[in-house]
Amino acid sequence: MATKRDYYEILGVDKKAPVDDIKKEYRKLAMKYHPDKNKAPDAEEKFKEISEAYGVLSDEKKRQQYDQFGHAGIDQRYSQEDIFKGVNFDDIFGGFGGGGGGGGSIFDMFFGGGARRGGPRRGSDLLSELTINFEDAAFGKSVDIELPRSETCNTCKGSGAKPGTSAKSCLTCGGSGQVSRTQNTPFGRFMTSSTCGTCRGEGKVIDTPCTECHGSGTVTKKRKIEVKIPPGVDTGSRLRIAGEGEGGTKGGPSGDLFVDIYVRPHKIFTRHGNDVLMEAAISFAQAALGDEIEVPTLHGDVMMKIPAGTQNGKVFRLRGKGISGLRSSGKGDQNVKIRVDVPVKLNDKQKELLREFAEISGEKIKGKGIFEKMKDKL
Ligand SMILES: [Zn+2]
Ligand SMILES: [Zn+2]
Repeated sequence: MATKRDYYEILGVDKKAPVDDIKKEYRKLAMKYHPDKNKAPDAEEKFKEISEAYGVLSDEKKRQQYDQFGHAGIDQRYSQEDIFKGVNFDDIFGGFGGGGGGGGSIFDMFFGGGARRGGPRRGSDLLSELTINFEDAAFGKSVDIELPRSETCNTCKGSGAKPGTSAKSCLTCGGSGQVSRTQNTPFGRFMTSSTCGTCRGEGKVIDTPCTECHGSGTVTKKRKIEVKIPPGVDTGSRLRIAGEGEGGTKGGPSGDLFVDIYVRPHKIFTRHGNDVLMEAAISFAQAALGDEIEVPTLHGDVMMKIPAGTQNGKVFRLRGKGISGLRSSGKGDQNVKIRVDVPVKLNDKQKELLREFAEISGEKIKGKGIFEKMKDKL
């Protein structure tokens, strides 16, 4: 697709223009390019373009989004439907409207009726959430979830009509699914069409509804779905399970199921990308003299060397003991952060040895040692 033009430029208005000015400019351009008036081949495209620009700039919130983030801010957030739904002829040509009976929006004009009538329709996508524990996120797992979803009714095969009967053509719209109305404005007559309210655009009405689905053509069923969680998922991962959304109608395909993953925090480990971090406490003596300690990892306990003279806060890396990347073949590491615990309850012997140790190290610590205390008693 060609790059999109700036909305302000399309409507020929200033970035600071008040909504009333924008509406005035849009009305002018809409007159010029309305497909009922303008038969040039690109008129409809132009009309869509200005209508989209107006749909965004006339809405305070969307305009703010656009000003801040440009087209990306709009395209990622709003569907064409969201944008065009806001453009209403009754409002734009307000007061002059002839046709009566509201709802003549640009959206109905472009998307109402036609596209959604009659034929097969894809089922909607479904969104579900799944909370799993830390290990399952790291290694993956198959989880069965139960979801209610609408499926094509077996009794009527989705037609909505009682077996042996069939739907009749809608009298209101003559089977077209759309009703048109004419609006008189000072600039000319406009035809707008909108979805027929009687048959909701289907073009057909059901006289004798199917008793199983009451005419909707779909029934809600609980369904067990196996969700295969790949190793490496994290909170915020979204899985797509094709074809497990709502059932389509009139033979249309099913939608997809999306599953948002939440990972419960772990008692010992925290996750940083594919790396895992944990804290290990060692004694002052272990830190000073060096030792070997057992540390838990996601892949089982391992022995880790503590070199003599290890400082508090030192981080050791256990290569490959992290989490497999969701999209890469490599594995993360486990980082072990050392906490040197200072002993809190010392007996007299321990105190004496520490004093002696301090003394040998050239330190002077206030307070009395055990020998001084004994001397005092004498
Ligand atoms: Zn049915
Ligand atoms: Zn109808």
